Amino acid sequence: MKNKKLTIIAHGGAGGINYPARRKSGLVKAVHAGYDILKQGGSSLDAVTKATTILEDTTVFNAGTGSYLNLLGMVEMDASIMTSELKFGAVAAITEVKNPIKVARLVMERTDHLLLCGEGANKFARLMGFDSYNPETREKRRLWQRRRKRLKNRYFPKLEELAGIYGTIGVVAIDKNGLISAANSTGGMNMNLPGRVGDTPIIGAGIYANKNGAVTATGHGEEIMRNLLCFRAVKLMARYPASLAGKKVIEYATRQGCRCGLIGINKTGAVLCVNNTKAMSWCYIKDGRLSSFP
Ligand code: ASP
Repeated sequence: MKNKKLTIIAHGGAGGINYPARRKSGLVKAVHAGYDILKQGGSSLDAVTKATTILEDTTVFNAGTGSYLNLLGMVEMDASIMTSELKFGAVAAITEVKNPIKVARLVMERTDHLLLCGEGANKFARLMGFDSYNPETREKRRLWQRRRKRLKNRYFPKLEELAGIYGTIGVVAIDKNGLISAANSTGGMNMNLPGRVGDTPIIGAGIYANKNGAVTATGHGEEIMRNLLCFRAVKLMARYPASLAGKKVIEYATRQGCRCGLIGINKTGAVLCVNNTKAMSWCYIKDGRLSSFP
């Protein structure tokens, strides 16, 4: 009876779907690995950590290895993790680790803090035994070179066209004990200013969880933050079924001019999966059955 709830959902960004086959195979692999943990009685925390790690290692996504480069051609990554018991850990603008989500989890488990950033986050990672690692790929370096040419001397005002590509990843799962966990990880917005931190590691903005459910977002980080989108979505989950909560939150986001996508799971194991962008890649397993974007 309890096992009926087991659910895991992942997304690969809401900025359209280039390389759909690579995206789908990464997402399918990630949710299978997470679901196996849930089936064996493991925690949703372990399931989302494992699935997020796989997505960080899949270079088509904008997270971990294969993250976008910032304006100066450097990778800076954000990641966070949260449970329905309000446990939270995050890193921001971390540069030299393979799996930011594992560091975020240790911020949650081994420190009294919620968020470590920049050099402090790198140093904490070293202290925790993570090797120094360069997450840059040739594919993303070439993309950066092409886009940089298009920028010419004009960085401001706004990055509208360049920033419209969101490829962050996120995962949410519920385990046999009803614990709901969410995790996410990103290289930020393509060509963002050095030091810019988006919604991904900000509690209530790019991620939120409580006893009613857990949600993570992707899309235009500044707008997601301004609207505390994930907090809003989880609040709606307390009053409405997951699909209706999703409809309401995405209608709100659209009214606010916030381009985004959200995934989530409520306390009954029901899934929320919405976006108002061109397309979002996603995949979930519920009651042992896999569903994914077309
Ligand atoms: N939300 C991320 C950020 O603003 C970007 C993304 O979703 O791809 O950093």
